[in-house]
This record gives sequence, C-alpha cells and structure tokens, in this order.
Amino acid sequence: MGKEEEAATTLLEETLEKAGGCGVIDGGLATQLEIHGASFDDPLWSAVCLINDPNLIKRVHLEYLEAGSDILVTSSYQATIPGFLSRGLSMQEAEALLEKSVRLAIDARDEFWSAVNKNAENGYNRALVAASVGSYGAYLADGSEYSGIYGQNIDVTKLKDFHRRRLQVLAGASPDILAFETIPSRLETQAIVELLEEENVHIPSWICFSSVDGKHASSGECFEECLNVINKSTKVAIVGINCAPPLYVDGLIRKFKKLTDKLIAVYPNSGEIWDGKAKIWLPPQCSKDSDFGSLALRWRDSGAKLIGGCCRTSPGTIRDISKAIKGKP
Ligand SMILES: [Zn+2]
Repeated sequence: MGKEEEAATTLLEETLEKAGGCGVIDGGLATQLEIHGASFDDPLWSAVCLINDPNLIKRVHLEYLEAGSDILVTSSYQATIPGFLSRGLSMQEAEALLEKSVRLAIDARDEFWSAVNKNAENGYNRALVAASVGSYGAYLADGSEYSGIYGQNIDVTKLKDFHRRRLQVLAGASPDILAFETIPSRLETQAIVELLEEENVHIPSWICFSSVDGKHASSGECFEECLNVINKSTKVAIVGINCAPPLYVDGLIRKFKKLTDKLIAVYPNSGEIWDGKAKIWLPPQCSKDSDFGSLALRWRDSGAKLIGGCCRTSPGTIRDISKAIKGKP
C-alpha cells in the first residue's frame, strides 16, 4: 500500500473509530429528493437533479448529516458521461456535473461540520464523502443491475471503457471514498478491480452488490466468486450489500464474514417491492422489516462496520439507525 492509500485508509479507520466501531451511511437520496417535490421520470433518474436543482441535493445531504450520517453518498449513481451526452450536453458540461455531485456533498459536509464542530456535546462526527458509481445496468436504466444480464457483447474491456472516464473525473474531485453500487456480477467486479489498478486510484473503494434471492449476486453467481476477485485487490477497502431487502441482510453479512477480511457495509432498501409494471411500491413482505433501529443492532453484531439505507429509506430511518448503534443522532 502506498503513502496516499495509507492516509486515505487511515481517515476511514478514524471515522469508524470515532463512530464507536460502526459508522452510519446515509439513506435514499432520490427518495428524499422526491419528498421535496423533485420528479425523475427520466433515464438519468436522480442525476437529472444535478442539472435542474443542485441546491436541493445539498439540502438533502444536510438532512442526512443532521440525522447522524457519517458517510454521504453523492448524487452520481445514474450520472454518466454517455447519459449526459445523450441529453445534448457537451463532454465538458458532463464532466462538470460529475465534479459538482462530489462538490455538493463536500460543501454540505464542510458547512455542517463547521456549524456543529464547535459543540462537542452534540456528538456529530466529521462525515466522509463517498462518490457513487452506479453499475453499467444503472446506466442502461433497464433493470439489468438486478439481473446482471448485459448482453453477449459486453466483456471486461467494454465495462472498463464504460467506467473509466467517470471514475477519473470523480476521483479527481477528491471524495474520501469511491462507492461502486448495485454491482450485479463477477464480470463487472473484475472490470472495476482491474480499472482501479490501471488508473492507480489512491482513494479507498467499496463495492456493493444487490441480491434478489438473499444468497447470490443478482446475476445468480456465488458471492464467493465475486469476493475472490475483490480479496486480491488492495484498492477495495469495503464490500457489502445495497438495495436488497432488509430480510436478506443478516444472512449475507454472515456469508461475507466467511469469505473476506474486508470491512462490510450494508445499506438495504426499505423492503418495499417495486412493481415495475404498475410503477408502484408494494409493502414489505414482513412488517418488521421497517424497524431499522433493531435491525441495525443485529447487523452490527453480525459484523457490519457501516450501516445505512438505500431506496425508500429516509432521514428518519438514518436517525433510527444512528440512535440504535451510537445512542445519538
Ligand atoms: Zn436503492
């Protein structure tokens, strides 16, 4: 590990230590933007807000900090250069929007920290900014991040080419973490790990997978295959699960504990189920799924080092998690 990597990893370790051994990630960004009236009937999904209403993104970051987040995930999940180009933006404009997604989170973090830092009693920590990197499927916006079915013509080289420039721009904007989210397959894991090496990225990364059955990656492949690829990389500090139902999380933490020594992050969705045909959210199969405070305690005890929420979770969810594991917001 080089000096720059060591410094970045130390910052992450310090944040976890200050949080009492288990840090709090934020919750659903798009969900909260929608609560404030934003609408995302657009292939760019929440990234459209980077163009239309960047101040609202900052406001939501501040709400999550207030709720007790130690890590803010940026609004770049579905923000891609080809996505912006297809909207008629120039390359320069597209790259500026990616930088802006990191800037908005850093500004919110700095503003919040300078306000609360003066009073140690309130118990907040200086948050870290994780630049979100959605999977190739998130760019396709066809649900393939939950199946890993990217078509026969997609190979490691093509996936690296898709991820490369965005990764360079996001890393150049100096986030504390690079957060690869909703990765469905071993193939895309391989592409990311190779790319981090080729680009010699010094910012620690996390790679999080979803799961549609509670046992396998979304592609149907064993997590062992995906984690074996990650275990060989010094660039990836954290692995985990995002946007799976809470019901699957405890079992997956236990499975991951056996397969890797990396830190484990979990930030499931609310457990509600998206009915793609009717375009509505259906209630969770089990009503206890929504009790994130007690779930967070169980996940921490099973070995998770970072806990938060994904789609349909809110600052209320994050406040419950933070109170449960830290005894404070
Ligand atoms: Zn989600």
